[in-house]
Amino acid sequence: MSESFQTQAIHAGYDPLANGRASVPPIYASAAFDLGDAARGDALAGGDIDGFEYSRVANPTVDALERRLAALEGGIGAVAVGSGMAAVSYALMCAGEGGGRIIAPTDLYGASVDALGDFLPQFGIHTDFVKDINDLKEVESKIGPDTRAIFAETVANPSTAILDIEPLAKLAHSHGIALIVDNTVPTPYLLNPVKFGADIVVHSTTKGITGHGNAIGGAIIDGGNFDWANGRFPQFTARQQVISNDRAGEWHSFAEKFGNAAFIKRIRIKYLRTFGAVQSPFNAYLSLVGLETLPQRVSQQVASAQRIAEHLTSAPHVTKVNYSGLGYTPQYELVGKYFPRGVGQILSLQVDGSANNVRRIIDGAKLFSYVPNIGDARSLIVDPAHITHREVPAEARIAAGVSDNLIRLSIGLEDVNDLIADLDQAIAAAY
Ligand code: PLP
Repeated sequence: MSESFQTQAIHAGYDPLANGRASVPPIYASAAFDLGDAARGDALAGGDIDGFEYSRVANPTVDALERRLAALEGGIGAVAVGSGMAAVSYALMCAGEGGGRIIAPTDLYGASVDALGDFLPQFGIHTDFVKDINDLKEVESKIGPDTRAIFAETVANPSTAILDIEPLAKLAHSHGIALIVDNTVPTPYLLNPVKFGADIVVHSTTKGITGHGNAIGGAIIDGGNFDWANGRFPQFTARQQVISNDRAGEWHSFAEKFGNAAFIKRIRIKYLRTFGAVQSPFNAYLSLVGLETLPQRVSQQVASAQRIAEHLTSAPHVTKVNYSGLGYTPQYELVGKYFPRGVGQILSLQVDGSANNVRRIIDGAKLFSYVPNIGDARSLIVDPAHITHREVPAEARIAAGVSDNLIRLSIGLEDVNDLIADLDQAIAAAY
């Protein structure tokens, strides 16, 4: 039976019968699990059977979240991690490890720009930045023998620029390169990138997925369609002790042992097991509860974001509104292709005057909380140039549209008329 998104958001990945008939997934606060007998322990440790041994690698509460997210994204498997940045870093390192190169725009969340431009190079992974990730000619001109992946946000934070996934995936695959996307802003309810050809999807579950601003978390989801043994990824075809049985003289590589699940298995068995940015069962529980209302929350937030964006386009002192759902934006045709349910709850606006006016608007907003987060039930306001994108070099910041006069809004679940009235009074009082 093929179930709808709303049904899967509540039921997928969890079996009450296997959990003491608890209707809500319980929090398994257990560091380790009984291995049973010696034969079972050996089979578990060798990866020959599935089961729980130690919560750094897998935990039943976290497992339910992973299965639910994989179902909601249309992937073959998922690994939940301690934060969205752990998900971004693990995915990029797993693809680029051992001297690989990534192609990416600078129009990304600030810490991702810092990772790609400044930090991952310290680990031998370099990035070729492009001005426009939807310009296929520009992207193709950067592909070389060491290119392993293209990375971009499906809806960029905070510009809300939309990624044209389908042609980019085709281009990547024609060169044997993987497409890794950050789908945090739209959430799986608004967009499933795997359906359009993306290979790996990462999320900050801190945002819309958990939805109440109460838990940091991240996830990596594997679409299961990429051939990691195509010659570009030596780490997937090399023999690995951790998945082999040297006593029996059996040696395996990730690609040969796990086939189309090689990437997500490598994330769990190498990255989660050794770097250890594990998601706590408590946070996984909060995300599971949050997911149950994801469709309803996001639907209302999208409707409010659209109304607020439209209102702001004619508001005094607002010189530009960035919201791809507005009919006049150059990307409007991509909205129809990828976002029949709307582009999301994030928008940004540019105002006239100086940085002081921006400060007064932020300080004058009463309902909007001044919080560096998105996707919360509460509406949030922030000045990205000073907060969320502070670490991005000035040139890249400007290229990503993050000027000192930019304000980002994340629309919550309050009454939209109250939110509009709050913005109007804050802007009027700031000049
Ligand atoms: N990706 C995007 C698009 C984000 O907006 C963020 C955080 O704002 C992250 C990744 C990082 O997520 P986390 O804060 O959970 O590490």
